[in-house]
Amino acid sequence: MSTLGDSTRCVHAGIPPLSPGDPLQPGPVFAAPYALPPDGYQPGLDGYGRGDNPTRRVLEAAIADLEGGDTLAFASGQAAVSAVLMTVLRPGDTVMLPSDGYYNVRTFASSFLAGLDVRVVEAPTAGPYPSFDGVRLVLLESPANPSLDVVDIAAVSSAAHAAGALVAVDNTAATPLGQRPLDLGADISVASGTKALSGHSDLLLGYVSTRSESLHAAMASWRTLAGAIPSPFDAWLARRSMSTLDLRLRQQTLNAAALATFLGSHPSVSNIRWPGLPSDPSFEIAARQMRRIPGIIGFTLPTAAAVADFLRASQLVVAATSFGGLHTTADRREQWGDRTAPGFVRLSCGIEDTDDLLADFTAALPPA
Ligand SMILES: *Cc1c(COP(=O)(O)O)cnc(C)c1O
Repeated sequence: MSTLGDSTRCVHAGIPPLSPGDPLQPGPVFAAPYALPPDGYQPGLDGYGRGDNPTRRVLEAAIADLEGGDTLAFASGQAAVSAVLMTVLRPGDTVMLPSDGYYNVRTFASSFLAGLDVRVVEAPTAGPYPSFDGVRLVLLESPANPSLDVVDIAAVSSAAHAAGALVAVDNTAATPLGQRPLDLGADISVASGTKALSGHSDLLLGYVSTRSESLHAAMASWRTLAGAIPSPFDAWLARRSMSTLDLRLRQQTLNAAALATFLGSHPSVSNIRWPGLPSDPSFEIAARQMRRIPGIIGFTLPTAAAVADFLRASQLVVAATSFGGLHTTADRREQWGDRTAPGFVRLSCGIEDTDDLLADFTAALPPA
């Protein structure tokens, strides 16, 4: 489907051809065990829901089309990231993680990988990167959450491959419409589908995509044995929600462009970050690497109390974590343990009308 436009692909990806009488959006198949033939299980049949589910396969085919690699869906982004780490890494290995990326990945590493004799080193997304010698797996996150720094995925992938390392990219913030890590040379694209991919703030989901048969087989086996599968209903809801991914991202990016410009010239705001702003440190590499810039902005108010004042005064911005949803939300990241200033806010632009958001921000964030 690669010659079709993004919105066309989002509507059709993964849906089997329709016959007369079929529903346009096939419903979910709920099953724990499936009926077996009297003479026993045959390979290719659906036998049990942990390993087999047709609704999940439709979702996986849809994401596979957008990412350009065989895809496995997981119960959450954390389940997907930990599947990558646990299938690739062995005692004595070294993994390189982003120091400014999703904090639960670092916590997983210090809580569980360190105890399995896996050495963990950190590198900032924007670099400089230490030597990849002796590193088994490099996990990148671009744009990173919450720093919004962008890394040259192709350049790091070829340097890491030259040293014998595998490369996985957390594609959560970008979504596969923003960039395709596998096309840029990564071995694995891994993401939380909880954020913009499903985008309605009503389910948790994760996935991994790869073109490597052996990595796919290892992660499929891990998933069946560790058991972190998404439910058929969530898989169905996610595929249905993906139909509007292009539409939602377009409005989120429009809103981010307007709000980043507004915030960038506001006297109470410092350190505005949006990779779509020409003044942003990540602008050049993002413009080269990404097909679209997500609607996520970072900015800093003087204090945590100033953030609370802004949220009390706003009529439209919801205080909530996560990002990529329909609602514009703001999250003061320090409260969750991110290495950020007390007044740092990760703003996720929703799909509301731009003028309404600008009016609301103007009223809620009075000039200092
Ligand atoms: C949210 C997030 C995750 C974890 O995903 P869940 O679906 O919450 O488990 C992983 N990586 C990034 C970049 C995220 O933003």
